[in-house]
Amino acid sequence: MKIVCDLCAHRCELSDGARGRCGVRENRGGVVVTVNYGRVIALAVDPIEKKPLYHFLPGTATLSVALHGCNFTCSFCQNHEISQKETFSATAGYPLPPAELARQWEARPTPSVSFTYSEPLVWQDYLLDVAAILRPKGARIVMVTNGFFSDEALDRLLPVVDAFNIDVKGDDRFYRERCGGRLDLVLRGIERIAAASGKVLEATTLVIEGVHTADEIVALGKQLAELGVQVWHLSAYHPAYRLSLPATSERFLLDICDRVRAEVLIPYVYTGNIRSSEGDHTRCAACDLLLITRRGFSIGDNLIRAGCCPSCHRPVYGLFDDPESKPK
Ligand code: SF4
Repeated sequence: MKIVCDLCAHRCELSDGARGRCGVRENRGGVVVTVNYGRVIALAVDPIEKKPLYHFLPGTATLSVALHGCNFTCSFCQNHEISQKETFSATAGYPLPPAELARQWEARPTPSVSFTYSEPLVWQDYLLDVAAILRPKGARIVMVTNGFFSDEALDRLLPVVDAFNIDVKGDDRFYRERCGGRLDLVLRGIERIAAASGKVLEATTLVIEGVHTADEIVALGKQLAELGVQVWHLSAYHPAYRLSLPATSERFLLDICDRVRAEVLIPYVYTGNIRSSEGDHTRCAACDLLLITRRGFSIGDNLIRAGCCPSCHRPVYGLFDDPESKPK
């Protein structure tokens, strides 16, 4: 009997013994299971800025966790060794059941736990089981994802994930030709998260010079702005996996960023993966006061108080490490 896996928007129909497009979900006798459930392939403490999240507890550490798997096939994947099914091995990684991960977190608690590096949608059962243990103990949950949610997946994840970084890869043609996905379904999830209260949402786009054009990036930004996205990271591509185009130049990225800031109504736009740290700082969207300086993944002074600019007192989007601050 065929069963539909509803963990992502591919909604693979699986006959008995078959695996889905991600290579890690399998129909076993009428039940779809994650074949590598609890087999952790990467575990590290990172700065939250590395996700990247700039408006969620800046300057704090996060415990980052990954299992193998992804539902996309991007030729430029920066983490293909742990995401693509042709590199999957059932014996890779090591078993770390949710309770054991929770014990490790309790020994060295961080303000958040991040599900990241590969694609947590395809092993979201593990994320949900960890969150059920750790959220009541005070850990906030972060998901770094391509956002190819099924409606059911977002129903499950939205109540327990505190901050999302969603990778928005390009226009619909780009998704279909280079990723094996669809833009409209990613935007549908973004719209729901942006409308939900108490969640922090940041978007990231890896800009590939020679593939993306400035017009396309500006058009994408306008779509994100309409959906309510407040924070957008424009990050420079570097050659990886099967794409050998030269790295995106700093000039190309900075020019695009200037156009986005001038033409797109997203108040916080950042650059990433380039030497210049000018585009990494947070300025008040109302009065332009420099609020947080950054160099690499480190932050300097954070002037935000009670979630507001200390000069004009306007709220700053996000959640800041301040007892009076609530997500805005
Ligand atoms: S997680 Fe997505 S890609 Fe994997 S089997 Fe389920 S629906 Fe298919």
